[in-house]
Amino acid sequence: MEINIDKRSGFCFGVINAINIAESYLDRYGSLFSLGDIVHNNKEVERLKNKGLIVINYSDLKKLYNSRVLIRAHGEPPETYQIARDNHIDIIDASCPVVLKLQNKIKKGYEETHAINGQVVIFGKEGHAEVKGLAGQTGNNALIIGKDFNNIEKIDFSKPINLYSQTTQNKGEYKKLINLIRTRMQQHNCNPDKDLKVFNSICGQVSNRGPHLAEFARKHDIIIFVSGKESSNGRYLFEICRENNPNSFFVSEKAEIKKEWFENADKAGVCGATSTPMWLMEEVAERIKHYSK
Ligand code: SF4
Repeated sequence: MEINIDKRSGFCFGVINAINIAESYLDRYGSLFSLGDIVHNNKEVERLKNKGLIVINYSDLKKLYNSRVLIRAHGEPPETYQIARDNHIDIIDASCPVVLKLQNKIKKGYEETHAINGQVVIFGKEGHAEVKGLAGQTGNNALIIGKDFNNIEKIDFSKPINLYSQTTQNKGEYKKLINLIRTRMQQHNCNPDKDLKVFNSICGQVSNRGPHLAEFARKHDIIIFVSGKESSNGRYLFEICRENNPNSFFVSEKAEIKKEWFENADKAGVCGATSTPMWLMEEVAERIKHYSK
C-alpha cells in the first residue's frame, strides 16, 4: 500500500515559533513555565513537559513571583501582562505575530467605534484563549458570537459595527454571519455599506489548507487525520477531509488505528491540523505500514 504524509499538514509558523522559543529556553535553563498548553496536542505537550516545560493556569500565575513565563501563540489579554508586571515575572512572549497584529487592530477599532457609540463583534469561540486575548483589547466589551450564532440578538443592529473573526474560524461560516448581520442592519434601517466594517482576520495558514486538504483527501482511498481532540482547526479540517473522502478517520495517536480500516485500500493519506507535530504523523504512517498488504 502506498502511504503519503501531507507535506503541508502540521504546525503553522506561529506554533513552530512558540515551540522553538520554548525549547531554546528549556535547553538553556532546564525548565520554563507556560501559561496554558503551548499547542492543542497532548502528545507534543507531553514531549515538552519531559524537557522541563511546566504548564500553569491563571491562578498559578497570580501566585508566581520573580519567575519566567512563556505566552503561547494564542496571545493574552492586557491583564496578563499587568499581573506579570506586578509580580516581577519576565514574559517570554511567543504570541503569534498574526494574532498580535489582530489584537492591535481590535484595540484601535474599539477606540474608534466606542467614540461613535458603536460595537466590536468577534466571531469566535467563547472562552478560547485567543478570543480572550482579542476581547481583552476592548476591556472585554466586545460581543463574542459563536458558530451557532446563538447570541446574535445581543448585537444592536441600529448602531455601527466593527466585525472581526478569530484567526482559526471557518471562512464559510464567517461569510454567513456577515450576511446575517447585513440583513439585520437593513431591517433596523441601518446601512451596512456605511456602518458595518468587516475585517478579514482568518489566518491564511488555516484557511488555505482547506482546499489543499480537499484535494489530498480525494486522491487517496483512505485518510487518517491526526489531531488532538481539543483542536478547533483540527475538527474543521477533518470535516473537509470527510466531505471529500467518506473513508476518513480521526485519530490522536497511532494506538487508535485499526487494521481493518485498510482492508480495501491501496493508497493511504496521513494529514493533520496546524497543531499536529510532524513526528506524530510519521509515527502514524509507520504504524500503517505494518497493516499494509
Ligand atoms: S493559525 Fe495563524 S494566527 Fe494562529 S498561530 Fe498559526 S500562524 Fe498564527
